[in-house]
Amino acid sequence: MKLTINDTTLRDGEQAAGVAFSIEEKVAIAVLLDAIGVQELEVGIPAMGKAEIQAIQAIAQQGLNAKLLGWNRAVISDIQASINCGLKRVHISIPVSDIQIEAKFQGQWMTVLEKLRDAVSMACDRGLYVSVGGEDSSRANETFLLDVALYAQEWGASRFRFCDTVGILDPFTTYSKIAKLVAEVEIPIEMHTHNDLGLATANALAGIQAGATSVNTTVNGLGERAGNAALEEVVMSLKRIYGVQLGLDTKRFLELSELVSKASRNPVPPWKAIVGKNTFAHESGIHVAGILQNPETYEPFAPEEVGGQRSLVAGKHSGRHLVNTLLEQAGITLASEETQEILESVRYLAVQKKGSVTQEELINLANRRIAHANR
Ligand code: MN
Repeated sequence: MKLTINDTTLRDGEQAAGVAFSIEEKVAIAVLLDAIGVQELEVGIPAMGKAEIQAIQAIAQQGLNAKLLGWNRAVISDIQASINCGLKRVHISIPVSDIQIEAKFQGQWMTVLEKLRDAVSMACDRGLYVSVGGEDSSRANETFLLDVALYAQEWGASRFRFCDTVGILDPFTTYSKIAKLVAEVEIPIEMHTHNDLGLATANALAGIQAGATSVNTTVNGLGERAGNAALEEVVMSLKRIYGVQLGLDTKRFLELSELVSKASRNPVPPWKAIVGKNTFAHESGIHVAGILQNPETYEPFAPEEVGGQRSLVAGKHSGRHLVNTLLEQAGITLASEETQEILESVRYLAVQKKGSVTQEELINLANRRIAHANR
């Protein structure tokens, strides 16, 4: 399968409320995405003005392997701004649903198409690679959506982006809608999915299964409202579920997640798939006992595959196996009844502090018990 990851952390990711990257942060994120092997980066919106243009030019000067794409409305001055940044690729977005066309163009869909034709023609005349995006494709009339994609193709666009702008689809509907487009349209279809119902990654995968050959992602799923399909989730799902190897250096995913988390001032929730700090942490007695036997019992893949580390945590749900293992690492061997007492102390302490019990606290509990016994 020939599949392109077109990461939009620097555009849709930065559009998340309250997020603003500095030029240095944008460059650092672009450089790391490129080093990891992401093939295409949507780097920003040149029409936003000076600071954005400086950031995009700074990224362009890095000599990255990744192809760089600028986001534009179907407005000639937007395209000109992209050209001024030195970009060779432009994405041109137009609304395609009734609700969007009504709100932005008073329902004048012919005007929308004329603007798209003018923008695409101008960009093609200037030798640019043109991607056309149907904003709110998921709520668009399917015939109109197909018409727009076919017009875009006829006017010279090289790719069509299907946007589930407000994240309202499920994977089955996504599959059906994308399959219809893929059957009629010759240029590649790209998925752009949002996570409002928690289905962004699932819908991106459904689109790919239906024949889409490009997919928008963002690191940590950062993006407007509930965010976008997460790069690390899409890539690891493709790899683990479908055996699709994109040649990305997944071992740097945690490093990338931390960089974007820091630059966006948005901490990653502990339960976040792939890169959350609990993703490879085990506390409950049954799970830890299994992990100590064979990590595959409770891990879908090894943490090292994404640059993570396994951790065994003592806490309210811990069992004897973990207590013994952690104490043996510190050279302390307990008798069976001692282990049970320590375990009860661990559970009590975890509830008191409402958190996990560190190895140091565990050793202290054990030493106190031993001192008490020897008195
Ligand atoms: Mn979006």
